[in-house]
Amino acid sequence: MSDLRFDPVSGHWTVIAGNRNNRPVEFLSAERVRKRLICPFCGGNEQETPPTNIMYASDGSQVDSNVDEHGNENEGWSTRVVSNKYAAFGSIDSLVERKQDAEEGQDNPLEVGAGKVAHGPYIRSALPGPQELIIPSRRHISSVSSLYDNELKVLFRANQDRLNTLRDCNVAKHAMLFMNCRSEAGASLEHIHLQLIGSPVISDHLKNRVERNRLHLDSHKETLMSALLKWEIAKKTRIIYQAKYFTVVCPYASRFPFQVWIVPNDPSVSFLEIDEDVRDELAYMSRDVIRRLEEALDNPSYNFLMHMAPFGQMAADHWYMEFFPRTTRAAGFELGTDVWVNPIAPELAAKRLRS
Ligand SMILES: [Zn+2]
Repeated sequence: MSDLRFDPVSGHWTVIAGNRNNRPVEFLSAERVRKRLICPFCGGNEQETPPTNIMYASDGSQVDSNVDEHGNENEGWSTRVVSNKYAAFGSIDSLVERKQDAEEGQDNPLEVGAGKVAHGPYIRSALPGPQELIIPSRRHISSVSSLYDNELKVLFRANQDRLNTLRDCNVAKHAMLFMNCRSEAGASLEHIHLQLIGSPVISDHLKNRVERNRLHLDSHKETLMSALLKWEIAKKTRIIYQAKYFTVVCPYASRFPFQVWIVPNDPSVSFLEIDEDVRDELAYMSRDVIRRLEEALDNPSYNFLMHMAPFGQMAADHWYMEFFPRTTRAAGFELGTDVWVNPIAPELAAKRLRS
């Protein structure tokens, strides 16, 4: 069982992921153990994962799941979406079922506001969020930098589709789309995959961000990120490059060395609604950013994620993507204060990444 718990002292939500002890330990095991493992994400090994939720051919069209007697897909696919077998949360399907049960009065975790229930002096969420894996290639590849153009395009289409599905299911208040790549970034398997988690709670951190954006928009008639972008474009020192729809920049107060943002030039359309040509540019730029980071930092572990406001509150928000190569670790000061020490100025990082 996994559990979403609130600490009233720190104000942090924590996922207690009790069912993850049996996760594959590819990165932690010796090389000989790794060789014996079958990669569950490679084409032909589909029986090793939960069934396909949706899959796409290399031209971006949807392909119907069609499994053989072993549970492997007969059809070729480019991007495949499955529920997370070792979910810290739950699957979209189980959540939709529980929500329907709740509406029929069989079990009513939704009755206490936002699925939250009191537990002595604490709060926990009675309604876990759904979690899916989006596998961007049937080839065994270990970084986004190795994705082909068509795989990238299909991947970002799948990302957009699944986010829209999650929003329409109405079982989550907020979605987080992210990738952990390589062991230092928290990946348990080498074959790259995105994770989509729908959260039933909105953290204080996120609430504060949305509120800061809203206040700025109300008083300045433009998003906070638009104001920052204008300044950065004028100053040039932290800009890596600009394209038709997006700008790549190292953030002014980077918490980590070589932290990178890809920011849409036009904040008025959320990622859920952007057109195909905009989406394709974002896909290519994401790979380009990772190639630059790999070149500059000798193939680091990295995380990247998409920052979006909670569903229903996206109008005031300026969504963006953020990339974190993992070169530093939290130490006592960071753990105690939540203030990070970054040994590489973002101006220097941007200069390295431009070249
Ligand atoms: Zn694989």
